[in-house]
Amino acid sequence: MTDKTNRFGETAKTDIPNDVPLANQPGHKLRTSNVIVDRSALAKQNKELEDSRKLAVPEGQEVQFVEEAGQVGIIRWDKSWKKDGEADAPNTFTGPSFRNKKEKFRFDGHKLMYHLDRIAAWERGERFAPVHVDMGLTKFCNTACLYCYAVVQNMTKGTMIQRDALLRYIEDCGKLGVRSIGFIGDGEPTLNPAVYDAAVLARKLGIDTSMATNGLLLDMDRAHDILRDMSWIRFNLSAGERDGFQRVHQSKADNFDELVEKIRALVKIKKENGYKCTLGLQMVLIPECYDQVVKEAELGKELGVDYFVIKHCSDSEYKEIGIDYKDYLRIEDVLKEVEKLSTDDYVVQVKWDKIRAGTESALYKDGFRKYDVCYGTPFVLQISGNGKVYPCGPFFNKDRFYIGDLHEQSFFDMVMGDRYWAVHRDVSESVDVHKDCAIGCRQDYVNKFLWDMKNPPEHINFI
Ligand code: SF4
Repeated sequence: MTDKTNRFGETAKTDIPNDVPLANQPGHKLRTSNVIVDRSALAKQNKELEDSRKLAVPEGQEVQFVEEAGQVGIIRWDKSWKKDGEADAPNTFTGPSFRNKKEKFRFDGHKLMYHLDRIAAWERGERFAPVHVDMGLTKFCNTACLYCYAVVQNMTKGTMIQRDALLRYIEDCGKLGVRSIGFIGDGEPTLNPAVYDAAVLARKLGIDTSMATNGLLLDMDRAHDILRDMSWIRFNLSAGERDGFQRVHQSKADNFDELVEKIRALVKIKKENGYKCTLGLQMVLIPECYDQVVKEAELGKELGVDYFVIKHCSDSEYKEIGIDYKDYLRIEDVLKEVEKLSTDDYVVQVKWDKIRAGTESALYKDGFRKYDVCYGTPFVLQISGNGKVYPCGPFFNKDRFYIGDLHEQSFFDMVMGDRYWAVHRDVSESVDVHKDCAIGCRQDYVNKFLWDMKNPPEHINFI
């Protein structure tokens, strides 16, 4: 053991014995002056190594031989690099050669890492508010889209959360610190006339809102309110022309024209007033709309919306919608091509991680999730269009997971109450995500992230 003074003048102790044998390995000198390998000694043992000049030169490469102390080394150059300090050779440090395109939206992933306070609360076992709530505002619709998941969610004409309960709930979200609410799921949100006031109130309370709508009944008299106060509005449209619209949405072809003009008008109002609200189109992919993919991508560009996203169709645990996820392989080429229509102002994106559920993606392998436990429901909650609260959409109407009714109980009390946390615990402890759950559910990405947090590999400090 020796005491030595380090370069900061501190005494550094070492346990290395003074007489420890030092490695003595002479070798060649190429890019560094360190002796690494004795090539001449190797060559003596293996005749094939005797002359580096005999090495084959792969196509596209140039080989430079370097002699040092009687040994020959080689440096391979890719012919596309320019030598002598020209800009695109490595190690010239003259500035950027390539830049990744900034991700504008994150359709195929999650953003939970931007809410570390909630993750910390979860890890401490505390009660905390969801970061986001997906909320239906009705349980009925004015179209009958072929892909609609709501048909397995017990739709009832005329049923909707009442205005008072909705606005009280929004206030509670403000008190709790819910960060965003999407008026998404169950029935068509614009059939509930309170949707506009809910968005305006939420903005006042600092909660972000959004809406997914078929757009047909959107009240243009409230266009300024929603474009000013909502973060984004997504049009559920799986067609790029009248015939496809009629086929997939089971709605009159004239409605397609009406919808297109409405979206065009919203884009105009948004631009003229400098509103930030993102406007986009979403296609739920089913075989009946494969021929509409390119047409809709072109339509979106022409309309001037911000994006066109293509997603899988979620099927129930009983496969009631009849989706064959392997069938999506048939259209992968078209989907890859259509993404090339993206520009700086218009994003065309496919949710690959879910579209590839039948093969392999970051979330799935052969139809099985790459996580075994659902931890995500306290972070992303879902509420049915009748005001009933459940941990997730696929579990709407399942009594075992029913938390409460916003008409009868305040959301604040619910989130702070025992029943709410008992249900979330029941989900994580009892649900078999591989057989009890809908493929591609809303919480998928978040679940995978939380599963990885709960199941660290060895040596996590070696980040
Ligand atoms: S994994 Fe299952 S329980 Fe969890 S949110 Fe998805 S469908 Fe619901």
